[in-house]
Amino acid sequence: MIDWEMMRKVLDKFFDDCAKYGKSDVKCPYCGTPLECRDFGVSYEVRCQTPNCFRQGFRGI
Ligand SMILES: [Zn+2]
Repeated sequence: MIDWEMMRKVLDKFFDDCAKYGKSDVKCPYCGTPLECRDFGVSYEVRCQTPNCFRQGFRGI
């Protein structure tokens, strides 16, 4: 069960950090493992480094 209100805040900070610093120390709200962003050019994906934990894909603008 995903708390999207919390998740949006986490992702907002994550993308903000990535845009500014190219990386982020924002951690997965579920297991505490650092999140990572994968850029596919036309879309990108944020995911937890723990298998089968959080994963979310986004379309680029
Ligand atoms: Zn996780």
